[in-house]
This record gives sequence, C-alpha cells and structure tokens, in this order.
Amino acid sequence: MIRARYVEISNIMWPRVQLKVGWGDLAFGLWSSLRKPDRDTVAQRVEARWSPEGEALTCFSVRSGFDLALQALAFPPGSEILFSALNIKGMIRIVEKQALVPVPVDLDIEKMAPRLDLIERAIGPNTKAIVIAHLFGTRLELDAVIDLAHRKGLVVFEDCAQAFDGKAYKGHPESDIAMFSFGPLKTATALGGAILRVRDAALRSRMRAIQDTYPVQPSGAYAKRVLKFMGLKIVLLPPVFGLLFRLCHMMGKDYEDPVSDAVRNVASLGSSRKIRKRMPAAMLAVLERRLIRWREGSLDGFARMGDSLRRKLGDSVVLPASANRIHNYWVFPILTDDPMRLIRALRSAGFDGANLPRSKTVSAPPERPELEPDTAKDALDHLVVLPCYPGMSEAELERQARIVREVARPHRPPQPALAAE
Ligand SMILES: *Cc1c(COP(=O)(O)O)cnc(C)c1O
Repeated sequence: MIRARYVEISNIMWPRVQLKVGWGDLAFGLWSSLRKPDRDTVAQRVEARWSPEGEALTCFSVRSGFDLALQALAFPPGSEILFSALNIKGMIRIVEKQALVPVPVDLDIEKMAPRLDLIERAIGPNTKAIVIAHLFGTRLELDAVIDLAHRKGLVVFEDCAQAFDGKAYKGHPESDIAMFSFGPLKTATALGGAILRVRDAALRSRMRAIQDTYPVQPSGAYAKRVLKFMGLKIVLLPPVFGLLFRLCHMMGKDYEDPVSDAVRNVASLGSSRKIRKRMPAAMLAVLERRLIRWREGSLDGFARMGDSLRRKLGDSVVLPASANRIHNYWVFPILTDDPMRLIRALRSAGFDGANLPRSKTVSAPPERPELEPDTAKDALDHLVVLPCYPGMSEAELERQARIVREVARPHRPPQPALAAE
C-alpha cells in the first residue's frame, strides 16, 4: 500500500552513500598512475604531514595496517583481543587469521561506546589489546577507557576509519595506534590507503620492516580502480540511480544485488589474503592531494544536514550514538522495529535506505557466553542508514522524514545492567 502511494512520484533515487571524491581527484589519480612519482618520497611527505613527530605510517588499508601491527606485536596464539562489539567483518577476520581470539565488549546505545563495566569484566589473563571503533562519524571521548586499558596493560587500538575530520583529530593522544582509512567509502577517500599513528618507535620500525617485504600494488591496478570509480560516480547520480532502480523493478529483479555487487567489486580492496601490499605511488599522491586540499570545517555541511534530519524525525525512531558531542554523520543511523518494511517504503519513494551488510558484531568465545554483546547485536538487526548529505534539499529531507514518521516505530535495544557478581 505504501508502495502504491509513493511509487509514481519518484524518478530519482538518493543513494545511501556518496563517493566523497571529486572528478579532479580522480583525474589526478589517472595522471599520477601514468607519471609514477617516486613512491617512497611521496610516502615520506604524507607521513610527515600527518605527524611532524614522525609517528605516522602509511598502509594499503586500515585492515593491512592492523594486520601488520598484530604481526609486529607477535602475541602468543590464543591471546585475546577485545573489540568494541561492532566493526566491519574484515577487521575481525584478521584477528582470527592470526590465531588470536576476538572478544566482544558490548556497547551503550547512546554513544555506541564500549561500556567500562563490561571492559573490566571481559579482561582476562590472556587479554593483550583492545580495538575501539568510533562509529558513524561520531567521536567518542576515550579518556576513561584508555586509562582503564592501560592500567590493565593492554595495547589500545583506536579505529578512526569512520572518524576522519582533517587536522582536527588525529587520534586520542594516549591511544597506542590510531588508524585512519582512506578507503573507497570513507571521507577524504584516495580509493584506498590508510595512515596509522604508532606511538612506540620500536613497534613502528618493526612494522615498517615487515611492510617493506610486501609487494607494491602495480600502478595499472590503481588506474583501473580510478576508471571504475568514475563509472560508479555516474551510476550514483540520483537520476541515473533512480533509472537503474526502475529498470531492476521492471525486470522483477532486486536492485540491491546489482548495486551492492557493483559497490563491492569496485570498492573491495581484495580478500584478506591480498591485504599484505603497499600503497602504489599514485594512491599516495591522491592521498597527499586530499590532505593538502582538505578545508577544515568541510564536514560542517554534513553535520547541519544530520541535525536537521534529526529534528524532523523527532522520536519516531531511536538514534544510536546521538549523545556524542561530535557527530559529522558519515552515515545517518536509526533503529526501528521493522527495518525491511521501512527500507521498502523509502526505496519506493526514492530514498535508498539500507542496512550495513559489511558490519558485524563480534561473537563471544564459546566458553564465555556471558560476554555475548546482546545490545550491539540487537541494534545491528534493527539498523537502517538514511541518505543524508549536502546536495539533498530541506524539502527532500522533510519528505524522507515524513515517510519514516509514518512507517517506522522506534526500537530500543535491551541494555542489561551488569549483574552483581
Ligand atoms: C572502513 C572501516 C575499516 C577498514 O578500513 P580499510 O581501510 O578499508 O581497511 C575498519 N574499521 C571500520 C570501523 C571501518 O568503517
């Protein structure tokens, strides 16, 4: 019924994400693939720009860098790595591949931050490190978490993949390793690449030594990637994307498949087997260009759109992570009782609401079922991200909010208090 009401009016489709890279950057990427600047020189310049103290290390991706750090740290097999419970699948797989055990710490919904009481409970004799992810474009306040982790002797990984904000934030001063991604869907993307700030000099040089044994991705592969991105950028224009949606609809196909396949194939940085690579010179050159040309405050537009949509939604849905002071809405997440129903209604009306298929909650090890992150799991099951970015008009935001208010009911995940032990 909802479909019947909205289906005729929408010829455009607002995609769930925007590729945050301009035509100029892409053209520069192609040009750099041909020109082939000296790789190590560009890498040094990027690292010095990020950290004048010499603490930065460029990597092929955050996953590559995380994998590299774990190799260099060489924890004994079976050591436990705590995770704030929600992250992308690839990060969790890396830990398992190195014969280490990922252990979840459940989140609160207000900030999507790992709960201190649960960190305390999860730490055991074999716990060596904790990985904390800032989610959705928010920035967590980590003083207490890092303080606790350090008192317990853990290495603190800060996953800032969704939290890039120019020079404004380069990681918490006390975290041991702060990881920023310039992967395909990320803010300031270079179509790949990452910068890690590693405070410990000995660890950093071990990581460098291992990374120097990796092959450099060939510049032809990067050029191909740039061309594919140009294609995807055209596909994601709202009128083109709308046309694609209607074509799939006419042929009785679910457009989710072709579109997510396209994004995955273009955006994929390869399987975990293929992450042990070094950035090609052209990718480094694009990254350098993006850092140089980044204007502080250029995410303010996203934050304003997010705040506006938030006001329009009122209490029709639950807004996870909304209690964080800093939020630039890398994505706009909501929690609702029946995500698929809302997604269908939104898509018929030209809004590509979606869930997060690459994300996952970390499962508790079989012998510690009490650590199962029920809040984060329930949140992920009820999560929808809404298109919300500069370029959409207030009227379109309002039209989207009206659908949400009509179709969705709020869903609040259970947040069990820790039973006294
Ligand atoms: C994207 C992302 C990563 C991985 O970044 P890559 O550079 O693609 O490896 C890790 N963690 C989070 C939270 C992410 O969003």
